[in-house]
Amino acid sequence: MFRLDGKVALVTGGSRGIGRACAAALAAQGATVIVNYVRGEDAARAAADAITQAGGKAEICGFDVADTKATEQALEGLVEKHGRIDILIANAGIAIDGLLLRVKDEDLDRIFSTNLRGTLTCARVLSKSMMRPSKTDPKRSGGRMIFMSSVIAEMGNVGQTAYAASKAALLGAAKSIAREYASRGITVNALGPGFIDTDMTQSMTPAMKEQIVKMIPLGRIGSAAEIAAACVFLASDEAGYITGQVLRVNGGMYV
Ligand code: NAP
Repeated sequence: MFRLDGKVALVTGGSRGIGRACAAALAAQGATVIVNYVRGEDAARAAADAITQAGGKAEICGFDVADTKATEQALEGLVEKHGRIDILIANAGIAIDGLLLRVKDEDLDRIFSTNLRGTLTCARVLSKSMMRPSKTDPKRSGGRMIFMSSVIAEMGNVGQTAYAASKAALLGAAKSIAREYASRGITVNALGPGFIDTDMTQSMTPAMKEQIVKMIPLGRIGSAAEIAAACVFLASDEAGYITGQVLRVNGGMYV
């Protein structure tokens, strides 16, 4: 079950954290994985090397999802090379925290251009090839898009207005694109991770982490592998009747 043999998956921000775990999990199910990064080429190479050492197929591709032209160019090159990209994991994201009164315009722009516009650019470009069945393999048709939202999109959080707004926008986008592309065999879903142990949450003090754990019924912070497992499921053929949904993987923090 949940095999992805013969499929090609792009994981934006696949070099670290949740994206890296998703890339490894998709490759373990047989997908060829493209690991995207923006600054950390070494980390991306290490993620791809770990996949190939485990017997999987991976390559790296650096581009800034917030740079629309660069993203379009890179994605068109990948489609040309692989024929099509079957699975998009739009995971690249940033958080710049601060109370509303202190939020700067340039921070708003960075958050929205990465988390929202970057995701929509990838979805727009890749949807064209997902709409066309593969010329060489009839089993490769349609596609899977998974947008990495956050529990904060639905709960809100002090100091995360811009981040929450960008992640909530992804929910509306996933639902709309799901409706637009359903007839073409493309499913679009959002994943809503809770607090997950990655570099993004590493800067929190032990006291802050303790406070957060108190809000999680399962009593612990989640792992990137637990998000990756949900990602594999949504990317699989078995999830073909699920579209426009939010899959929350948050230890019960928001139900
Ligand atoms: P992370 O450890 O900070 O890793 C972020 C990844 O995104 C890195 O691979 C980074 O690449 C890449 N990236 C950042 N900006 C990019 C850009 N403009 N273009 C291309 N790649 C870019 O983050 P994470 O904790 O794994 O989070 C991954 C996603 O899950 C994010 O969208 C985040 O909002 C979401 N999320 C995380 C949590 C959590 O608790 N960790 C909870 C809910 C949702 P470089 O290293 O090259 O910069």
